Amino acid sequence: MGAVVISIDTELGWGFHDYPAAERPTERIARSRWGWERLAETLGEYDIPATWAVVGHLFEHDCAGAHVGHPSPPGWFAHERGEAPMDEQYRFAPDLLADLVESDPDHDIGAHTYSHVEFDADYATEDLARAECDRAIDAAEAAGVSMTSFVFPRNRVGHRETLAETGFTCYRGTVPETSADGPYSAPIRKLTQATVVRNPPPLVEPTVDEYGLVNIPASLYLFGFEGPARRVLSATVGDPVVRQAKMGIDAAAASDGLCHLWLHPNNLTTEADVARVEAVCAHIDGVRAETALTVETMRSVAEDVATEDVTVV
Ligand SMILES: [Zn+2]
Ligand SMILES: [Zn+2]
Repeated sequence: MGAVVISIDTELGWGFHDYPAAERPTERIARSRWGWERLAETLGEYDIPATWAVVGHLFEHDCAGAHVGHPSPPGWFAHERGEAPMDEQYRFAPDLLADLVESDPDHDIGAHTYSHVEFDADYATEDLARAECDRAIDAAEAAGVSMTSFVFPRNRVGHRETLAETGFTCYRGTVPETSADGPYSAPIRKLTQATVVRNPPPLVEPTVDEYGLVNIPASLYLFGFEGPARRVLSATVGDPVVRQAKMGIDAAAASDGLCHLWLHPNNLTTEADVARVEAVCAHIDGVRAETALTVETMRSVAEDVATEDVTVV
């Protein structure tokens, strides 16, 4: 039985705080709460549960940016301090998270670290990885949320043993390197004009790693094909990413495969972006009504794998 999973890297301003202030995409950050709300509304409208992998700091209500004892590199929280700190609405989101917890699709709320640390970076020591997991879990638990799913910032996989030791059961892995349209080693698969029209995204299969974690690889980034190429193709074949997503959803419905779509709330900055997500949700809903396709979350996939006999790789 085929399935679709949507995972959402939820970070507001935290996705860019390690950029120099002048290089942060200020428009995208400014629209990030709008994008979050529109995404939640759209998923609600079609009753589609998703895995929201949240930067743990967003559960906080306030902080002075000190984070004493957190083993991060010097200046890591500098954007929270000084004369022009990043606006609080992009650093805290207990309000949006409470809405998500109460909302009707039974969303899976997971972690995207505590402060958007890249787990394979040189600065990402074992201590820091552990602290990022522990603090994210604590902040979520204070809000009554227990997290089991993990998405690595920028898909940089690392410290998997620490994930397992701190209680996570699954993570989003990178797109398989042997997709139909060629080998990939980049953590984020970039679509080209040729592949976006011709080939469906890869269906993926969850596997269990040496630490007992379920790896649920990505199939398609819903905002990996932007700029002028998106506009040109949209005028001729319609939104090329919707086309890709539909091919993946149809392929999953026709097989046992998993089509794992992902995006950020802050990818939604215009009505055209919302329309893309809405078209994908409408297609999932339609196919789900007519076939055995199910909508799963990373948590439910990991739970299913745990009860099955699977190959350990
Ligand atoms: Zn803080
Ligand atoms: Zn991120």
